[in-house]
Amino acid sequence: MKSTVFSSLYQQGKVPHIVIIGGGFGGLTLLKKLANTNCKVTLIDKNNFHTFQPLLYQVATASLSADSIGYPFRRTVGAIKNLSFIMAEVRSINQEENCVVTSEGDLTYDFLVIATGSKTNFFGNNQLAKLAMQLKTISQALDIRTVFLQEFEKAVRLSEKHDSESVKKVLNFVIVGAGPTGVEVAGALAEIKKKILIKEYKEIDASLMQITLIDAGSCVLNVMSEKSSQRAEKYLQEMGVNILLNTLVTSYDGEKIVLKNGKELLTNTVIWSAGVMGNPILGLQPDVYLPNGRIKVNVFNVVEGTKNIAALGDIAQMQNNAYPHGHPMVAQPAIQQATNLARNILMGEKDKSPKKFTYKDKGSLATIGRNKAVADLGNISLGGWLAWYVWMLVHVMFLIGFRNKIAVLFNWAVKYFSYKNTIRLIVRPFVRGN
Ligand SMILES: Cc1cc2nc3c(=O)[nH]c(=O)nc-3n(C[C@H](O)[C@H](O)[C@H](O)COP(=O)(O)OP(=O)(O)OC[C@H]3O[C@@H](n4cnc5c(N)ncnc54)[C@H](O)[C@@H]3O)c2cc1C
Repeated sequence: MKSTVFSSLYQQGKVPHIVIIGGGFGGLTLLKKLANTNCKVTLIDKNNFHTFQPLLYQVATASLSADSIGYPFRRTVGAIKNLSFIMAEVRSINQEENCVVTSEGDLTYDFLVIATGSKTNFFGNNQLAKLAMQLKTISQALDIRTVFLQEFEKAVRLSEKHDSESVKKVLNFVIVGAGPTGVEVAGALAEIKKKILIKEYKEIDASLMQITLIDAGSCVLNVMSEKSSQRAEKYLQEMGVNILLNTLVTSYDGEKIVLKNGKELLTNTVIWSAGVMGNPILGLQPDVYLPNGRIKVNVFNVVEGTKNIAALGDIAQMQNNAYPHGHPMVAQPAIQQATNLARNILMGEKDKSPKKFTYKDKGSLATIGRNKAVADLGNISLGGWLAWYVWMLVHVMFLIGFRNKIAVLFNWAVKYFSYKNTIRLIVRPFVRGN
């Protein structure tokens, strides 16, 4: 008789069928670790590619093309016999039948892993959810790119009519949320103002372009050290970004953003990066879903109250003394949890005890602009060009696929020497509300 949750998967020499929902950092790591082993693994994702989310903002701001940060799952699965991929959206879990209900039919599992990541949190404000831009997927990044390029073209026409009030409105880009994504988008837009608007949109008075970064907290990058936060704020100010701290947004009607302090800003473009929440799949016991959308798991990433369902990465909340609200919703916990879970599944065949998950914090990074980044590595805080090089190195290292690494390096080199974000194509017009 096998004795652990994981060893019971291999009862009587059975080859267990492991189903992974979501091929993000967590799901893809698990898939790779289980390649060429004694289990059958099926990855289900609603897209046919993995998205490298940390560089989404560079797609949104025309530094990188979409295909350099995506990687097709079938290239990973390839000819490996025990791996397969299904492109489908998972709609629910039927725990009694051990099956998942997907847009392409039902699929049974012996062990299920939920790795569906997170989604943007608008804190219940439906109007904002409808009208603000988000940055979680490649298609949303392309929408942001299109929007700012469309607004530039609009500004050219308005400038020719000498309508500077309207020019100001279309060129006012408001970013809500001064975490790494908000800071990176604000910095990139500030560089576009300086290097592209001034030089290539000669009809426009570039001084009318405003980039406003709003946060409810008292500092930017509040997930990083005080030193990095102060450095980032200084860089942003030097680049001309207006920073509004301790400021809550109450509404946005598509043209005017209203702040809790009574102030109003006229803008056609609000990019919302003020929060994320778990992106759960329904069908589990109600008490495992937390108000933040995450799913409660134990120290082995097994969903509480279940025997053959695990969750990992952004969707999983494993609480302990060091992380009473769960691990940070960044790539490393997802990768490390997937590595530990793969080990435990494989050790199950030998009936060995599973290993508890412990998180190794490898540090945090954020880039603000050319030669301007911040890095917290243990007790060391780096800034300026050194942090910028570390940021680039780490991102290229973790990017999936050799072609993508080369494409990203090439684009960065072109941008570095030409001072231009060159991928400025409006390939499909963006119409708000569609
Ligand atoms: C703009 C941005 C910048 C970021 N920058 C950084 C950074 O610099 N450093 C860092 O460490 N982290 C960063 N993060 C966070 C990091 O990307 C996430 O923490 C990480 O991706 C979480 O991995 P995951 O495997 O849990 O989920 P994800 O990587 O989000 O993957 C989830 C997968 O599940 C799929 N999926 C979801 N629902 C379904 C469904 N119902 N059916 C089928 N498939 C589904 C999705 O298509 C996706 O492929 C950033 C995130 C964003 C959005």
